[in-house]
Amino acid sequence: MSTFKAPKGTYDLTPPDSATFLAVREALAAPLRIAGYGYIETPGFENVELFARGVGESTDIVTKEMYTLTTKGGDELALRPEGTASVLRATLEAGLHKAGNLPVKLWYSGSYYRYERPQKGRYRHFSQIGAEAIGTEDPALDAELILLADQAYRSLGLRDFRILLNSLGDSECRPAYRTALQDFLRGLDLDEETRRRIDINPLRVLDDKRPDVQKQLVDAPLLRDHLCDACRAYHAEVRALLTAQGVAFEDDAKLVRGLDYYTRTTFEFVHDGLGSQSAVGGGGRYDGLSEMIGGPALPSVGWALGVDRTVLALEAEGVTLDIPPATSVYAVPLGEQARTVLFGVVAELRRAGVATDLAYGGRSVKAAMKGAHRSGARFTLVAGERDLAEGVVQLKDMESGAQEPVALAAVTDTLRSRLG
Ligand code: AMP
Repeated sequence: MSTFKAPKGTYDLTPPDSATFLAVREALAAPLRIAGYGYIETPGFENVELFARGVGESTDIVTKEMYTLTTKGGDELALRPEGTASVLRATLEAGLHKAGNLPVKLWYSGSYYRYERPQKGRYRHFSQIGAEAIGTEDPALDAELILLADQAYRSLGLRDFRILLNSLGDSECRPAYRTALQDFLRGLDLDEETRRRIDINPLRVLDDKRPDVQKQLVDAPLLRDHLCDACRAYHAEVRALLTAQGVAFEDDAKLVRGLDYYTRTTFEFVHDGLGSQSAVGGGGRYDGLSEMIGGPALPSVGWALGVDRTVLALEAEGVTLDIPPATSVYAVPLGEQARTVLFGVVAELRRAGVATDLAYGGRSVKAAMKGAHRSGARFTLVAGERDLAEGVVQLKDMESGAQEPVALAAVTDTLRSRLG
């Protein structure tokens, strides 16, 4: 072992587990690729002010969890704690919203960083697949995103998850509700920090997971009873569209999520096998965010799904993904001359798209055959001097154990047809 270890709250992805991780990431993105979402990639760090303004000065993410740094040039940067603010910043910067085709639909995949207390399912470096639909207010768009996430989880074989749904209202109805909630919260027995939160961001108090706080919140006024007509109609439409598609959801009037920018639709996917870190994904509408970061009015909706927790959810449900072995053919040369010839055969097979590996390092036949078994290859190609003199290699079927000579010139075609 080296003197160094992965930093606290992080872990390395190594084979064979990394193959599952990759497959999960692919599966979570797959529904977006056929729903009109284009790929976007933004830097791993941004101007710290983008998150302060976008995510919210009073959120845990900004006040406690950001990795910030000052560059030698004096720039204040932060490793990205989430994707939405960056994607919107990039959209505005590139003027994608001006191309006349709204919504701008984008998907992304990447690493995110939060200085949180590490525990199972909560890391300081984690991975998300995200989607944003920018510039359009349409309940069908909110419903589409929820549907696509549902489809993504189901395609992996997950079943024990639930969708929590809420509306956070808008600038029309939320201010009056906020005041009503503040009045209620001020009458409760709460600690200093939570009291401060009542002034800055009272909705977040509803999100407090501590039982003694939750107990006091039983009679809290709920936004759903204070929605304006437009928000109420909008929410009813989202619900109706989901219901028509057979997507089951639970109304959760206390779902507020940890970010300030949400308006109207908010939702979370929770998995019941994960313990306290049960959210596998979440998102919502953020109609005011563009203006908060200096852009025009661009009502938008999006989500982010956690790849790490989705992998844990699969484990919790005992679902194993059907991942084909990385190697289909393994070549074992017996001697120098055979090595040169098989090196060429391997290169040709790979050019033909056959996953092939070679026994390197001049190992004994026994060690090389062990390597062949370990690789999971369906076939091995063994060649020694006598085979080469006859212009053949020995093709061994690792399942049946049958072995036969195949003319060197016919190896690629033979293997391609046998592998289907
Ligand atoms: P959020 O923006 O906080 O709702 O994050 C969206 C999703 O990312 C969550 O539902 C989690 O699946 C995942 N996620 C967020 N924070 C972490 C973390 N610290 N460790 C692992 N996954 C996370």
